[in-house]
Amino acid sequence: MVPDLRPILDLVWPRSCFACGAALDNRHGFLHICPDCLGRIDLILPPFCKRCGCPHFEENFRPVGCGACAGRSFAFRSCRSLFELRDRGRQLVHAIKFHEGHHLLPDIGRMGEELCPELAGKILVPVPLHWRRHWARGFNQSDRICRALASRLRCRVIPLLRRIRHTGTQVGLGFRRRRANVEGAFAIRPRLAKKISSRGEELVLVDDVFTTGATLNACADALCRGGFANVRALTLARA
Ligand SMILES: [Zn+2]
Ligand SMILES: [Zn+2]
Repeated sequence: MVPDLRPILDLVWPRSCFACGAALDNRHGFLHICPDCLGRIDLILPPFCKRCGCPHFEENFRPVGCGACAGRSFAFRSCRSLFELRDRGRQLVHAIKFHEGHHLLPDIGRMGEELCPELAGKILVPVPLHWRRHWARGFNQSDRICRALASRLRCRVIPLLRRIRHTGTQVGLGFRRRRANVEGAFAIRPRLAKKISSRGEELVLVDDVFTTGATLNACADALCRGGFANVRALTLARA
């Protein structure tokens, strides 16, 4: 049995909460989120929309879709998000996306394992950045989220998509303009597609935030055009 070195590590290198700075001990399961701040992350638990993952959802009224996704078609079968993009959840996404919040990834993996155990063993596909943005940022946050989930859920991460067109920011755009902005921006990598034994295998697209689903939709569309039609999506947060 591997000895638990965490108590010794904590003495040498004390841990603190990423959001409020409170000191953390070993009894709390999360490494860099204190219990108070964890309580301020609005986790999305059932019932949520089975199609778009919207948490503000009355199951009894709409068996398929919800007020947020009614009338919108998606190339993915369903999407789910771990938490809402506000309060500490927003800070968590920002830390991972803009501030090299690398140390937070084990906590993300743990959250994913607790909320989405059904992802175990699946193939995860990160939403790619255009190489210019990747180069400027130094990393792709979606790829990091994939690897955090994969380490807890024994998933394979296959960066099956590439961004073939640089797209401007989606911030401030409405649903239609977001869709137009990313349409045709992605393509599959045929060489990596060969690593997947069956085209019917379920693929899980992974991104940081679901806002209107336009980016995930364009990615799922590229996967469908490449012959992978069994696609669902997962994001850390839901705007
Ligand atoms: Zn805290
Ligand atoms: Zn919905």
